[in-house]
Amino acid sequence: MNSEIGNGHEEKVIGGVQKKSGNTHRKSLKDSLDGELRGFLTDEGQLHTYDDLTKVNPVTPTTVLKCLQARYRAQVFYTHAGCTLVALNPFQPIPGLYSQDVMKQYHCAPQPQESKPHIFIVAEEAYRNVQGQVDPVNQSQVVSGESGAGKTWTSRCLMRYYATVAASSSLMKSQNTVERIERRVLDSNPIMEAFGNACTLRNSNSSRFGRYIQLQLDRSQLLVGASVQTYLLEKTRVASQPTNERNFHIFYQMTKGASGDQRKDWKMLHDQTFAWLPNAEKTLEEDCFDETVEAMVHLGLDAEKQGHIFRILAGLLHLGNITFCSATDESQPCDFEEHSEDFVHNCASLLGVPGQELQTYLRVQTLRAGKQSVLFRPCSLADCSVRRDCLAKVVYAQLFEWLVAFINNSMCAKKSTWCNFIGLLDVYGFECFQVNSLEQLCINYANEKLQQHFVAHYLKAQQEEYISEGLEWSFVQYQDNQGCLDLIEGTPTGVFSLLNEECRLNRASDAKQFRTRLETELSDHGSVSWDKFSTLPHFTVAHYAGKVSYQIEGMMEKNKDPVPPELISLVQKSQNPQLHQMFADRQAEDQGTRGLRQVVTVVSKFKNSLECLMKILHSTTPHYIRCIKPNAECRPLTFKKEEVILQLEACGIVETIHISAAGFPIRIPYWSFIQRYGLMSNLTGVSQGPGENGLAADGTDALAPAVTAVLNAALRSHPLDSSDDVASDRGSAL
Ligand code: ADP
Ligand code: MG
Repeated sequence: MNSEIGNGHEEKVIGGVQKKSGNTHRKSLKDSLDGELRGFLTDEGQLHTYDDLTKVNPVTPTTVLKCLQARYRAQVFYTHAGCTLVALNPFQPIPGLYSQDVMKQYHCAPQPQESKPHIFIVAEEAYRNVQGQVDPVNQSQVVSGESGAGKTWTSRCLMRYYATVAASSSLMKSQNTVERIERRVLDSNPIMEAFGNACTLRNSNSSRFGRYIQLQLDRSQLLVGASVQTYLLEKTRVASQPTNERNFHIFYQMTKGASGDQRKDWKMLHDQTFAWLPNAEKTLEEDCFDETVEAMVHLGLDAEKQGHIFRILAGLLHLGNITFCSATDESQPCDFEEHSEDFVHNCASLLGVPGQELQTYLRVQTLRAGKQSVLFRPCSLADCSVRRDCLAKVVYAQLFEWLVAFINNSMCAKKSTWCNFIGLLDVYGFECFQVNSLEQLCINYANEKLQQHFVAHYLKAQQEEYISEGLEWSFVQYQDNQGCLDLIEGTPTGVFSLLNEECRLNRASDAKQFRTRLETELSDHGSVSWDKFSTLPHFTVAHYAGKVSYQIEGMMEKNKDPVPPELISLVQKSQNPQLHQMFADRQAEDQGTRGLRQVVTVVSKFKNSLECLMKILHSTTPHYIRCIKPNAECRPLTFKKEEVILQLEACGIVETIHISAAGFPIRIPYWSFIQRYGLMSNLTGVSQGPGENGLAADGTDALAPAVTAVLNAALRSHPLDSSDDVASDRGSAL
């Protein structure tokens, strides 16, 4: 039935207007279409044929769910939901779904929107929009969904699509050649995934960072470069992995894929085990060492640089095996446990730092007394482990940052050579665990921001546009999350501000005290609540996607994210050129920001980078892809209704469909509309004077009243002598 998407849309424009003009003709096209849809709904055998959820009638969570389930069963994974594309994860490769032939088909179709829903429709639409008939406009693909829903997979598919259709080589002709820049753009994926992804309980290849990739296009629409911005790498994972989860893939790739010589170089015996490499369920990604190395080579990381990087990583694994015990004399630093001596030695040698200093600064804190004298204070047993973990985290995070900068250097085109971009946003979805801390607060805050962007851009802007154009419109309610955002980011009394203030005071942080402060300052806020009976200090935020309780204990420390300066000085002395270079700039930064008042906290940094991202998003035309995870176990072709419905609710898909269905799916510039239908104004007696309300309709033609109403609106703002040509914001068809 969906071969007539175009017709369906046209009918609904008319039907929508008819409703607004107050016409009561029983046999309108909309009525007959609705009847047809109702017929289909009872005939569940046909549900899988609904390509656009706006055609489901009535639109309720249940009908939408049934339709998606029927499509999933029929192995149809993409469905339009008005302005959004819903992508259901099949959890198994679907042969041919993303082949080059399919790419070509969508790329070459005169009206791709009329083809079956596919991620490539969205890709192609953005690609054509960039060309812009009037002004080229940058585009963004906002891919959202919970962990394991398919965001990264989708981003990869989009990148492959553009690397193919926008290839500066003649890729469309020769199947297997990907020219240098396309190759490099694609090769950034395996590297970033090796260093930034890990096996978690939710996804065996879970991205532990967010990213926004900008694909740069030149005047001829060819891909000439790319840049990537990353957000909030989960660096704690390098030193502590949640139960039954794993460390970053790269460590497993190294231990599994290393040659004999490399093992020797990295001081890894064959039966060597590492505390930071828990062997939770094996993943395919651990077999990809060769692929990662190959991608590194393509991006310009030669064998020497790779050697330095792998030695740093191996050094961190040895660091993780160092354990401490209390000294017999309490005034002395803690001792290393017996087996640790070798690991200290190996770690120092691989990181290229002085062994004696490593031994000292893992266990001893230096305190400056005035300009000259330095005091040494032994750390507690617990503090020694904290310092060890801290060293690993700061080195890994810095290495990741360095890699991203290197990749950018290798992919980014000169500013003079590109003029537009298509951005792909792949950030972690909404998270709600048993214990949630600062990381979840930041992640969920990012999701709130994106949801607000969606609401503002689509739900709000569209409805306001109807009203401003004088179309009668009953406002469809949607959830506005500004209240929740105020709670988190508001100044001076939002959670982030209060948290920063607490950190700047630099007193021994007390979770209970901070909770009391939050309660006093935020008591009027509707989006926050407290469980009076809970023993652990916490606060609960009502996010658009559900309530999440955040544990306060440890939050201040995480926000300060302190790194002992001795450890920074230590790595700055490294003989490993890579490690040395990575921290070379750090010194200036530390000196420049000395003094606690200037400490840049984690939330401030995150908020700033998110603000930059939102600015970029606002300057682009967004496209939304909602990835849905049909079952938590990642089982192929398994659709769990209860799980899907929660995700549909969380992203407000039903409201989106309502607005899209009730709204105008096509937008024709008034002038083109008049050119096309102006003739009817004579037939139906439409007033041509601006501002007059010339509703006509004698009822002999079901089309007339609807067209009349649109014509009236068009003529009001564009009298027939107008020569404006306002560009359609969605191209000609959708
Ligand atoms: P997210 O980034 O949302 O956490 P991923 O993109 O990593 O999720 O997807 C999780 C897993 O689901 C992938 O590793 C892959 O096995 C599977 N998957 C996702 N999308 C598809 C798809 N379109 N076809 C086949 N498998 C998919
Ligand atoms: Mg991902």
